[in-house]
Formats: sequence, C-alpha cells, structure tokens
Amino acid sequence: MLSAATREKFSSLSPAEFFKRNPELVGFSNPARALYQSVRELVENSLDATDIHGILPVIKVSIWREEQDREVYRVTVEDNGIGIPPSVVPNAFAKVLYSSKYIIRQSRGMYGLGVKAVVMYSQMYQDKPVEVFSSPLGSKRIYGFKLKIDISRNEPQIIERFSIENPSGWHGTAVTVHILGDWSRSKQKIYEYIRRTHVITPYSEFVVIDPEGNAIHLQRFTQKIPKPPQEVKPHPYGVDIELIKQMISSLRRELDLRDFLISEFQGIGEVTANHLIEMSGLKANKKASKLTDQEISKLVEVMKKYEGFRPPSPEALSYIGEEIMEIGLRETFKPEFVAASTRKPKAYSGHPFIVEVGIAYGGQIQPVEEPTVLRYANKIPLIYDEKSDVIWKVVEEIDWKRYGVEGFPAPLVVSVHLCSTKVPYKSAGKESIADVEEIEKEIRNGVMEVARELREYLVEKRKEEESKRKAIVYMKYIPEVSRSLAIFKAGSKERADHAYPIILNLLKQVVARKLNIKDLQLMEEVKVESV
Ligand code: ADP
Ligand code: MG
Repeated sequence: MLSAATREKFSSLSPAEFFKRNPELVGFSNPARALYQSVRELVENSLDATDIHGILPVIKVSIWREEQDREVYRVTVEDNGIGIPPSVVPNAFAKVLYSSKYIIRQSRGMYGLGVKAVVMYSQMYQDKPVEVFSSPLGSKRIYGFKLKIDISRNEPQIIERFSIENPSGWHGTAVTVHILGDWSRSKQKIYEYIRRTHVITPYSEFVVIDPEGNAIHLQRFTQKIPKPPQEVKPHPYGVDIELIKQMISSLRRELDLRDFLISEFQGIGEVTANHLIEMSGLKANKKASKLTDQEISKLVEVMKKYEGFRPPSPEALSYIGEEIMEIGLRETFKPEFVAASTRKPKAYSGHPFIVEVGIAYGGQIQPVEEPTVLRYANKIPLIYDEKSDVIWKVVEEIDWKRYGVEGFPAPLVVSVHLCSTKVPYKSAGKESIADVEEIEKEIRNGVMEVARELREYLVEKRKEEESKRKAIVYMKYIPEVSRSLAIFKAGSKERADHAYPIILNLLKQVVARKLNIKDLQLMEEVKVESV
C-alpha cells in the first residue's frame, strides 16, 4: 500500500499562478479594493515615469462602467512620462516580477508586480486584454499592444500589436484595463488616494473622470519638482551572501577581490578595502568569480562588523523638500499656519532614508477628533491599515497640549513622508510601514520639530489676541483722557478742538507700543467699535 506521503501530488507554481491564487497579498481582496488598487498601481507607474525623470506629471484617469448587469469598469490611466520601449512592453505588463526598478534608486514601484497584479485580477473575471499605448521620449511612432498573461507559464501572450505615426511628438503611456469592481464602495478611497497624492506632488496635474460622469481637475500648484534620484551601488551594510553572489555573477569583466570591493560598493575606498581584506583573511588578488560560498560568507560577516563605512548615500533618494511640502499643504487645506521639515539623511540596515514632516493648522481645516494623519512612503499616500502603521503610532503618542493645541476637536493635519531605497512595508500591497527603530525615532523627532513651530505660532497668536482685548479696554478711555488733556493744554474748551486729534493719535501710538500691537489699523477698528 502507498504511504500518505507517496500519494501526495507535488508540483511547482509559476510566480503568476502564485499571485493569482493569493490576490489579497497584493491588495486585491474584493471588488472594491481591487478597483482602488488598480487605479493606484497605474497612477504610481505613471508618476514613476514622470517625476523621477524630471518631467512635470500630467495624469489622466478615467473610470467607466462598461457593462449594465455587472460592475465591470474600464480604467484608463494616461501619462506624459518617458514611455516604454516596445521591445519590453509585453514583459513589463504581462510577466510577473519583471521591472526596471530592481536597482538602488528611490521609486514608487519596487516589486515588479503592480501592473501585473492588475492584469491578472482583470483577466480572472472578464475576457478583455490589457491595452497599452506608449511612445518613448523622442520616438517617431506610437506602439500599441493588447496583452494577456499566460498564467501557468508566466509569459506574455500578445493578442495584437501595431504601431502608428506620432506626428505631435507625444511621449508617455496610456494603459486600459477592465476590472470587476465596486465603485460605490471604493469611490471615497480612490478620491482620497488621488487628492493625497496631489498634496505630496503639488507639481503634478490630475484629471479624473468617474463613472458618475464627474470630471475633476486638480491643477498644478508649482513648477518646482524634486531633484531626481540617482542610481547608486549597494552599501556594505545592506548586502547578504546571495546578493554578493549575484553581483559577482553579473560582473562584466573579471575583477580581483580588492577591485571588486572598491568598484562595486558604495563607501569602500582603498583603505577600507584593505581593512576588510585583512579582517576576513582573504587574498586581495583572488578573482572575485573564484570566491567560494564560505569566503563570501566571511566577507559579509566582516562587512557587518566593520564600523568605518560612510553612511549609505542619500543621492539615491528624492525627497520633496520643505518648500514643496508646504505648498501642497497650504494650497490644499488653506490653513492659517503651515510648517515643514526635511530631516537629515539617516540609514537603517544599509538603506538610506529621509523623513519629512509637515503640519497645517486652522484656517479652512475642519476641526476633527484626532489629528488627520497623511502617511506617505516614496511619495505614495498610504490609505488603508492606518492604525498598524508606525507613522500613526508616533503621531498618536504626541501630547498636543504641550504644543499649544488646547484640545480636540482641533483643525490639525500632520503629514509624514518617508523616502528610502527600501521602505519596510508590512505587505506587498504597500499600505503600512513596519516599526523600524531608526525610522520611528526620526519620525518622532520630525513631528516634534514642526510641532514646536506650531507652538511658537500659537503662543504668539494668543499674545496678540490678549493685547487686542486689552486695547479694547484702553480705547474706552483714550478719547476721554485725550479730550481732558487737550483742554488742559489749550486752556479752553473751544481751542481744544485743534489739539484733540493730535493728542488722541499720540496716545493711541503709546498704547499700541505698550501692548506691542504692530497693526495700527487695529487701533482704528477698536475706536470705531468702542467710542
Ligand atoms: P514596478 O512598478 O514595481 O516596477 P510594475 O509591474 O508596476 O512593477 O511595472 C513594471 C515595469 O513597467 C516598470 O518597472 C516600468 O519600467 C514599466 N512601466 C509600467 N507602467 C509604465 C508607465 N506608465 N510608463 C513607463 N513605464 C512603465
Ligand atoms: Mg508599479
């Protein structure tokens, strides 16, 4: 008789099949979430194709209901980005784990999964292929594709391809997919996603057309765009045995160990290379390709131990900057106070990161029971799973009374942006950031820094209000006192009429100076109110 173990059937899954079976891992757990996630993945790719290449983004999103009896939506996202070379379009859209972003440079995408998850979900519930139109920068033609994913082989299936002339010089990409969705349950999240994206990228322009026929235009608020990130080499603190093996196997020419260390890593010069070689007991002139697993393991061990490396280079990062962050908050929320801080670059486990924090208070912000927290990672707004995010945890722990906020409800918005070449997301759906000690600390310091600016503003504002109250009291007496002084000086009531306005004015100035009221118009208003 066969044992239970022998009767078991074993087989392997293609990566596409794996994600098709586990759509919730990439954010497709139900039709509402799927529609939201589809818009999000397409918009993220569009932004990656524009701002990190120095192009001011113009992104058009349209969502149409295609069928009457079930909720299948036609989602199109068009951008003015760098486009995609036609030779890679099929793999980029229909081969899971294929990406141009497996390099060390800050981008929104990082898994080579996003748009393929959209296409897989799309083809699970309806039969239309994904349509891609793209014209790479400088191309004289526009290339069109209709694609599906051959899920069991994880290969693109090209249904149709063609190209047409591009007389207008358009560059960019337009992608259309059909998604089984739930508009009424995802509408609010989709709009929130786009609006919050616009807050952190106020240099972008969005047009959204929704299934109810609404057309929304979010205009560009500034021409300033963050400095594009540069691709960098791995930092020794961020490598492991497998990564080094991979680096060695993709070397274009034979290098000895010393040259390999110096030319393929950040932060290793000749002196450091010699230290590492000495510490590991390896030979400097041994060919990198001949290193054994054991030797590579030794190398990684000393790299983790060595303390003399420069921190990972922030060149790979593209932060928003205080000015753009403030513009986004000011133009969107119309607050009375706004401040932002871009913190200095830091690192965790060999990955550089920068935390930026903005705060907006008062004005047209509606008072709410808890501060509104805008969470961002690499310029992506995080909408779901708020309470499990390290950003939420930090903001919640802040004692706002200490920063002059007298109590809630309060009109307070806090925006936190983490940029890194490796954001420690809790899942591939990219909705919340894990608690990494170094990151948590930076977020806390950043929030406290802008909160202190808020406190200064509020203290100043309250002082001014207090002065105004006092001025009102004084002003009640100023006319009477001025008149008495005028009579005293002029000697008679009749002649006092000339001296009165001069003395009144003088007294007002004295009071204003005393109460530190800069705005003399205020004193005029006070007079009208009180005399
Ligand atoms: P990721 O964004 O993580 O790399 P995706 O599956 O979302 O993975 O995209 C795969 C690749 O397709 C991207 O790395 C990019 O090179 C290319 N791509 C997708 N959409 C666009 C677009 N709108 N413009 C330019 N390139 C794009
Ligand atoms: Mg992507």
